Amino acid sequence: MKSQDIRAKFLDFFESKTHQIVPSAPMVMKNDPTLMFINSGMAPFKEYFLGNGTPKSNRIADTQKCLRVSGKHNDLEEVGYDTYHHTMFEMLGNWSFGDYFKKEAIAWAWELLTEVYGVDKDILYVTVFEGSDEDGLKLDQEAYDLWKEIIPEDRILMGNKDDNFWEMGSQGPCGPCSEIHVDIRSDEEKAKTPGAELVNMDHPHVVEIWNLVFMQYNRKADKSLEKLSAQHVDTGMGFERLCMVLQDVKSNYDTDVFTPIIREIEAITNVEYGKDEKVDIAIRVIADHVRAVSFSIADGQLPSNNAAGYVIRRILRRAIRYGFTFLNKKEPFIYRLVDVLDKKMGIAFPEMKEQKQLIQNVIKEEENSFLRTLDQGLVLLDRVIKNTSGNEISGKKVFELKDTYGFPEDLTELILRERDLSYNKEEFEKLLEKQKGKGREATAIVADDWVTVLEDEDEEFVGYDTLEVDVKLTRYRKIETKKDGVQYQLVFNLTPFYPEGGGQVGDKGYLQTQDGDIVYVIDTKKENNLIIHITKTLPKNVNAAFKAVVDEKQRQRTAANHTATHLLHQALREILGTHVEQKGSAVHSKYLRFDFSHFSKLTVEELRDIEDFVNARIEGKLPLEEKRNRPVADAMADGAMALFGEKYGDTVRSIRFGQSIELCGGTHVQNTGDIWHFKIKSEGAVAAGIRRIEAITFDATREFYATNNRAYYEIKDVLNNPKDAVKAVSDLKDENAQLRKQIENLLKDKAKNLKGELKGQLQEVNGVQFLATKIDLDQNGIKNLAFELGGEMNNLFLFFATANESKVMLTCYISKELAAERGYDAGKVVRELGKLIHGGGGGQAFFATAGGKNPGGIPKALERVIEYVK
Ligand code: ATP
Ligand code: MG
Repeated sequence: MKSQDIRAKFLDFFESKTHQIVPSAPMVMKNDPTLMFINSGMAPFKEYFLGNGTPKSNRIADTQKCLRVSGKHNDLEEVGYDTYHHTMFEMLGNWSFGDYFKKEAIAWAWELLTEVYGVDKDILYVTVFEGSDEDGLKLDQEAYDLWKEIIPEDRILMGNKDDNFWEMGSQGPCGPCSEIHVDIRSDEEKAKTPGAELVNMDHPHVVEIWNLVFMQYNRKADKSLEKLSAQHVDTGMGFERLCMVLQDVKSNYDTDVFTPIIREIEAITNVEYGKDEKVDIAIRVIADHVRAVSFSIADGQLPSNNAAGYVIRRILRRAIRYGFTFLNKKEPFIYRLVDVLDKKMGIAFPEMKEQKQLIQNVIKEEENSFLRTLDQGLVLLDRVIKNTSGNEISGKKVFELKDTYGFPEDLTELILRERDLSYNKEEFEKLLEKQKGKGREATAIVADDWVTVLEDEDEEFVGYDTLEVDVKLTRYRKIETKKDGVQYQLVFNLTPFYPEGGGQVGDKGYLQTQDGDIVYVIDTKKENNLIIHITKTLPKNVNAAFKAVVDEKQRQRTAANHTATHLLHQALREILGTHVEQKGSAVHSKYLRFDFSHFSKLTVEELRDIEDFVNARIEGKLPLEEKRNRPVADAMADGAMALFGEKYGDTVRSIRFGQSIELCGGTHVQNTGDIWHFKIKSEGAVAAGIRRIEAITFDATREFYATNNRAYYEIKDVLNNPKDAVKAVSDLKDENAQLRKQIENLLKDKAKNLKGELKGQLQEVNGVQFLATKIDLDQNGIKNLAFELGGEMNNLFLFFATANESKVMLTCYISKELAAERGYDAGKVVRELGKLIHGGGGGQAFFATAGGKNPGGIPKALERVIEYVK
């Protein structure tokens, strides 16, 4: 069975059990501080399990793109080495939100596997939760009894808390689970060791394929458990592992999900898969990682230097490194795999198809830049090796190479090993741990349980229509982080506060009770569908009625920037072309930032046209046409623009100003005239094929022009108020260039004269032409002079001192032959005499310099240097 059909059969099966089929959510998480990437099928539904919102159906099924490279699930180091863990994989899942429970979940899983897919019952094992003393939980008897009906008891195995008790996090929903494992070994192997002994033992051919989680408890902050009022089912089956079973192969990489990619790698690199384990690992790493990186980019997450972007960059670099080291690929090639990947996945995941060009460009540029880093690193490492005596490099140096230059330690190790060297691993690990620890501490968060003030109040956002409203607190909790200290998170029945999202910052403002108690809201965020108001203190009386007031000025500025962002987006597509797609957006009160796909630097004319385009629409005073709760299809039919990587519900809000229509949840001005003016402040590159514009609007532009104007008059003033200031500056520049040329010539003449003079002063000491003197020349001049004199004789020993207000310098030049023959060392001379001028320095045996601060030391230095000749 082809992988396409395997996926389709899963969805069809659960559709027949009245599940609603939904598309995969984007892999990059938003609005969840605990998770960067979706790492399991349930993550997009977290808010429903937490009770913050209702799903559109209480039975849902899908295939979800997952990424397991950080945090609780991190399989990165396994990938490539084993044959069944991936960074990015698809998780097939079916869900019950307070609907069916263990009975149906188990029966359907069995039916699908054995009847629909026709998996041989004799290769299946299942596990059930054995209980845990720590939590006072007993065996999951209910699951055991259900399994007993369909599978022989010797195939039901007990699992401990680690394997068979699922938890969402340190707090929240949790419950026992039942896993389904397959044993795909040969009959001979089976005869040697019973499968039951290999379950959960990391055997490559006895693997878990499906996990059925039964959520029935809630873990509280004090670690105790309470029963959930509604019970849920969350299942996850690894698609690639299922394909391995159904296609009767022994590795995920031998399924048709991966073979086309592997064939392409073989073709490009001229190697063969299956001949040499090291090469095979590299091929698997690359075949896996190109998927993870491509899908991330398609979902809007580009490689970068922070957070999620950095994770993606690291995955890609790992692939490049394996190609570089084991496949001997020193030029970009991973981007060339995207074509095949698209052919394979583009049908099930259209985002892949539509973003192919961008994905290729971004990967290629990343490859180029990391290959340069590797080249540079090799040079640096060479230097480190040369400067090390003995055969162990310090861990600190290896850490520096990694931390500062991005040169990975395993590559360092490999190169060292080839030269029979090693490095101090312990020291390296310590430095790495220290750095990691710093990051962890800063973000570590301690959260108390939510305190419920008002039951059963759903939160409603009213901030599109009003900035001030009477509200009641429904729940709150205290949290603490190293960075921000103690804070409170407040949730209300109603709120005018816009939570950070869609690139727009969260509202600030305050809460006030009738008796005048005021609490400031310093930020508003959305977490798992809750609108959270962040404060530094808790209101005195949590049961009071509050007036919630949004900071109007900030909101007004932010709204101007948001609407201007839409107009900018429209302008870019109009002026540069429809290949322009939004790749990132930040709407602050003070400025806006917009990242978009485009392949070359914008010209001055283009930038001017864009500004003019936006300003024309501002002057046109276009009214806001807002439509809420529209079916997605209707909005799209109007020509609304949707963004890749954005998760839209069934109904959306569309925002229209003239011809600009976007799906958007942000806050906007009522009329484009309210923006006043739009001014681009900068344009530049952020990644291959991605440009960034930063711009300002509204009162920020007034300030901008006022500041510039002031600067202009100040400049004019300095130039004695010429009529044409631009011409005056340009003349000044020309004049300056001419003067510089003249000075250069003068200095050259001076050096020539000086050279004649100095030659006359040379003394013969001990068979050496010796001179020690103070001269008045810049450092470069001294160096030239010394080397010119050096070119004329080969027994020269020169020692120069110079002093100006800020610095004292000593320079020593010794003819190479002389230094070699007599063991003179200019470096030693300046190091030792440098002490007299309270400084230090060094260099080579034939040329060295030292800098210091004490001109009083010069006479002594000039006097003592002759000792080095004698
Ligand atoms: P394992 O012990 O094999 O790592 P797991 O216990 O981490 O699996 P779950 O978190 O229960 O797995 O995920 C549900 C299913 O997703 C698994 O049964 C498996 O089929 C699949 N799966 C999990 N991790 C990966 C991965 N890194 N690559 C591919 N499939 C995976
Ligand atoms: Mg795992």
